[in-house]
This record gives sequence, C-alpha cells and structure tokens, in this order.
Amino acid sequence: MNILFSGVGVAGSALASWLLHHGFTPTLVERAPRVRGGAYGVDFRGEALDVLDRMGLLEQVRALNTHMGDAAMGDRDGNQYATFPAVIVASDLEISKGDLTWVLHEATRHDVEYIFGDSIAILEQDESDVQVTFERGEPRRFDLVVGADGLHSRTRELVFGPEERFVRHLGIYTAIFSLDNYLGLENIGQLYGVPGKAVNIFSARDGTRARAALHFASEPLIYDRHDTEQHKRIVAGRFTGEGWQVPRLLEEMRKANDFCFEANAQIEMDRWSSGRVALLGDAGYCSAPTSGRDTSQALIGAYILAGELAAAGGDHTAAFEGYERHMRGYVTEHQQAGREGAKHFFMATSAQKTLSMIAANAPEVAHAQIVRLKDYAPNLSAR
Ligand SMILES: Cc1cc2nc3c(=O)[nH]c(=O)nc-3n(C[C@H](O)[C@H](O)[C@H](O)COP(=O)(O)OP(=O)(O)OC[C@H]3O[C@@H](n4cnc5c(N)ncnc54)[C@H](O)[C@@H]3O)c2cc1C
Repeated sequence: MNILFSGVGVAGSALASWLLHHGFTPTLVERAPRVRGGAYGVDFRGEALDVLDRMGLLEQVRALNTHMGDAAMGDRDGNQYATFPAVIVASDLEISKGDLTWVLHEATRHDVEYIFGDSIAILEQDESDVQVTFERGEPRRFDLVVGADGLHSRTRELVFGPEERFVRHLGIYTAIFSLDNYLGLENIGQLYGVPGKAVNIFSARDGTRARAALHFASEPLIYDRHDTEQHKRIVAGRFTGEGWQVPRLLEEMRKANDFCFEANAQIEMDRWSSGRVALLGDAGYCSAPTSGRDTSQALIGAYILAGELAAAGGDHTAAFEGYERHMRGYVTEHQQAGREGAKHFFMATSAQKTLSMIAANAPEVAHAQIVRLKDYAPNLSAR
C-alpha cells in the first residue's frame, strides 16, 4: 500500500518508521524546505517512552535529555525558579523539538521518499484510491493519505472543513526562541509573572544556550501565520514596559532566527478519518501546550495507527476505527488536562503563587495516561 502523509513533524516521522516496519510504502510531503527544528522542549511520559523503546530510539533520545524535567522548581537568593509551567510536573524526559525531529527523520531518511518544499493542494478520493494534486509536483495517486500537518492542518481543511470549526482557543499565546545563556543558568529556569503575562528563561542542553518563552493572555488574534516579523511586533507590543529581564529578551527576540509564535489551542473533532484520509497528532487532536502531552500523543498515535493498519491487513476502514477506539479516551483526558493547565496559567499575581498553583494541579494532570499499547509486531529495536 502506498500511503502519503503530509507533515514531517513528530507524528509524521514516527508513522513513517512504523509503516515501513509493517511493510507499507510511505511517502512524506513537507511544506518547509527541510525538517523543521524548534527552540522549545518537548517531553515524554509513560507509554510514549515505551514507544520510543520499541522503536529502538530510547537511548539516543535519553542522551539528548535537557534535564529540565529534573530541575523542576527551586529557590536561590530569594528568587523563584521553574521550567515552562506546562511541563513542570511528571515529565519523564525532555529534549528539544529540533533534536527529536532530527532523530526521527534520521531513522527513516534512507528508506522513505521525502518531498520537501511542497504541499497537498487538492485531494479527491473514490472507492479505490486518492488522487493528490500538489502545489508544485506532478499529481499522483495513493491508497491512503494521512494528515500529520499540525494544528493548522491543510489536510484537515481540505477534507473536513475550515479550522474555525474545530479549534478551541484557550486564551494564551506563546513566543519561544533560543539565545545565549547570558544568565549562566544550569539545568534550571527563571520565571517572571504579572497578571496575564509570564516569562521564562531556562538553560538549553549544553548550557551554552538558553531558551526564552513569553506567554500572554489574549482573545483569539487575527494575523498572518507565516509573517514572523509581524509575530515579533505583536509580542513586543505586549511586553514593552515590563521589568526584570524583559527588555533584554525583547532585544534578543528581534535577532532570533528560531523564533516560534503559536496559540495555545486544541483541535476537537468527532472523528479523525473520512474515507481513505486520516488525521494524526496535532492535526486531529491537539491538546495544547498547556497539556504538555502533544508529543506523547503524536508518538502513540503513530504507533497505534500503523499497528491497526497492519493488524487489519490494510483494510483502512477497520484500521481507522481501531485507531480511534484506542486513542479517543487518552486524547479526551489530555484535552481536559490542557484546559485545566490553561485555566490556572495566569491566575497568580506572583511567581511564587503560580508555582504553588501548578504544583497543586499536578496530581490531576499526572493521572492522564490511559492508553494500552498492543503488541502489533516485533519491535523495531528487535529488527
Ligand atoms: C510553543 C509550543 C510549546 C510546546 N510545548 C510542548 C511541550 O512542552 N510538550 C509537548 O509534548 N509538546 C509541546 N508542544 C507541541 C509539539 O511541538 C507538537 O505539537 C507535537 O510534537 C505534535 O507534533 P505533530 O507532528 O502533530 O505536529 P507538528 O510538530 O506541528 O508538525 C507538523 C508538520 O507539518 C508541516 N506542515 C504544516 N502544514 C503543511 C502543509 N500544508 N503541507 C506539508 N507540511 C505541512 C509543518 O511544517 C510541520 O513540520 C509545543 C508546541 C508549541 C508550539
């Protein structure tokens, strides 16, 4: 079976590994000219570590651990320290998003067809296959198409309808970028909080770099998603006049070339497939950064979708049903955690209070892991 997926993020690359393993022929199309990095950290919990182990990648990923999950919070010279609030609790392992997508891509790049710098423009499906028209390349036919193209999925829009129908904004925007570790942080972060705004700086993996995150509360904003300079102006407008390290961070932000600006939002859908097209990861069920669970969901979703396709002998209808059945409760829990996290995000007026509220919220969030991994086939690591 030839399967096209849109998006070479965590979900797409993990799915490529598993489909290849089960004997399918995956092709990936990515809009960016190369695998995209990301200045922020992503973390793994529970079963997601099990999936990495089954892929034979756990040790490689562990070696890239930022150890920010271990740093949690502390107090030095009267200051409050914390990691990014969404991941302050129960993170088993954190690595940078760029490192993760690189590791996943490396695992398949010699065996899978990757098309960079293109995107699906039109999808037309019938009983036997899907005709795909690309923005640049020649049209092609595939047996199945999987949209793993993130929160603003083009595949979802083409098959299910406009984003507005499925997106739930949780009232927070975040900007993240990397910078020199000029504060000399070591496996630790600093937090600045005023009502409706929070800023974190935390050390990156080798201690020479740091990452800064600026969060602000807002109603949904209208802006061009591809205009980075406009995003920087929006953030500067919100934070100009703030104290602490903020003026320096705004200066650093203007120079940053790995700047990322995104809404804390969820995707809620009644179903994740239609005919021969399915959605995976953020495209179908983003739980929002305040859940801290989207990377785990993407990895586990890829494992289950590929496994169900193999178990059903390529019967996509049965496979998509199985995928949804196994994932739905797990996603529902995470989306609840994402909404809870967002609700508490700006309630505090001081860093101290923010930290205690996040800690108080921890037990509820930590229980949000209810997926059972079936053994579909020998693990990739056993190959
Ligand atoms: C600011 C921020 C902080 C986050 N913090 C955390 C965290 O702490 N913990 C955590 O687990 N997760 C976190 N995440 C979420 C995480 O980065 C991903 O959302 C998650 O890994 C799921 O990935 P995905 O593969 O579904 O989507 P993505 O990683 O978004 O990948 C989608 C891919 O599709 C590509 N694409 C988009 N449109 C098209 C198109 N039309 N054609 C072809 N390709 C396309 C994109 O370029 C991208 O490469 C955070 C995200 C953000 C934005």
